[in-house]
Amino acid sequence: MVVCYLGLGSNLGNRHKNIALAVSKIKELKRTQVIKISHLYETKPVGGPKGQGKFLNAALKIKTSLTPYKLLKALKKIERELGRSGTYIRWGPRVIDLDILFYADRFIKNKRLKIPHPKVFVREFVWRPLLEIL
Ligand code: AMP
Repeated sequence: MVVCYLGLGSNLGNRHKNIALAVSKIKELKRTQVIKISHLYETKPVGGPKGQGKFLNAALKIKTSLTPYKLLKALKKIERELGRSGTYIRWGPRVIDLDILFYADRFIKNKRLKIPHPKVFVREFVWRPLLEIL
């Protein structure tokens, strides 16, 4: 098992419920344990279309023996189950956004996966909840 940090965000529909559902689905993942959950942070959207609602953001500390790619696949499945549609607007509104922020001490940089997630270092809505649970 390795320690990973995940970022969660929602700005569509019932945001509290979306985050809570995502956390419970992550808890149900095989070979994965949730260790810590940050508070929820309400943040203004950065970039993307004008007029979209504020986000709720949170961070999770987990332990997993899924590979980074298996973990990504599992998180994408949860996003789909929670109703995130296939149409993608960059930085647009979303029911749920699940990101792998850190995966142990791994550095990965390719088309499918970037770890550490580049948003960790520039977006307050990512690093603030993360700092709380380090
Ligand atoms: P997003 O809009 O944040 O859901 O990002 C969409 C795509 O980013 C996904 O389909 C992933 O393939 C890719 N991606 C690259 N690095 C990561 C990461 N660390 N965590 C989650 N998605 C990532």
